[in-house]
Amino acid sequence: MDATTHCPRCDAPRSSLVRDGFYHRADDSKSIQRIRCKDCGKKFSNATFTPTYRQKRRRINETVRFCLASNMCPRDIADLVGVNVKTVAARLVWLGERARKKHQKRLQTFVAAQGPIKSVQFDDLVTFEHTKCKPLTVPMAVIDNLRIPLGFRVASIPAFGPLAKIARERYGKRNDHSIEQRQALFAELQTYLADDVHFKIDGHKHYPALIKAFFPGGSYSVHLSDRGSVVGQGELKKTRFDPLFVINHSFANVRAKVNRLNRRTWCTTKLPERLADHIDIYIDLLCERLERRGNYRRQS
Ligand SMILES: [Zn+2]
Repeated sequence: MDATTHCPRCDAPRSSLVRDGFYHRADDSKSIQRIRCKDCGKKFSNATFTPTYRQKRRRINETVRFCLASNMCPRDIADLVGVNVKTVAARLVWLGERARKKHQKRLQTFVAAQGPIKSVQFDDLVTFEHTKCKPLTVPMAVIDNLRIPLGFRVASIPAFGPLAKIARERYGKRNDHSIEQRQALFAELQTYLADDVHFKIDGHKHYPALIKAFFPGGSYSVHLSDRGSVVGQGELKKTRFDPLFVINHSFANVRAKVNRLNRRTWCTTKLPERLADHIDIYIDLLCERLERRGNYRRQS
């Protein structure tokens, strides 16, 4: 009765709960303690309060998580682990939620140990949902030198360039949520960043106003970007030294590892929320790797 403190039906305290035998859980061959409430008679178990409660295929979780962050598409993962593709889709949401919470805790621990973060790189990664006529932008902040993502948002933007007219004719006017989403992200960043934080940004016209509004004591430097190199997913630049290398490398990496962000892919995002889940899973796995390698503790 380790994790059990109360009855899920009548809220009776632990003193009213008694052990009531075991059952064999076929899905992962574990013996699970059953519990009975003396007050209301309800039976439940130690598994009731675990994160995997009511999952039927617990063994797949780690593999699905790893594969989602290793550029595999849901259908291939479903074939690999032997489940329906809908199960993988459900796990994406579940894993995304867990990854998000875990990463927030990780950042809180980092700031508690190291102090607020003093230097970040900030940029938008542009992708699309289902068709290039429906672009999405992903503003993201990364700790300078450490490659640790601090946060991101997914926002719809109207199509631009040669596609703008076609997109309007085909799908009507598309809302631009990028400004409000960037503001929400900056509000979240206030928990982690120092008052005198320094931002490295590209020539995006909205960034300086955001920085002034949310970090009045902060500063920024603008670094205009060069043409992308072929292997760098359009993010790694052909220059000798790229001041925005950390954020561009992060974008190249997330494009290579989250398959719906690959360029020239046919695995597209159908829902912006699912793209967010997917990126959260990727970030959590990335940071686990950085932690293992030990290049995590020092702030430049
Ligand atoms: Zn009860």
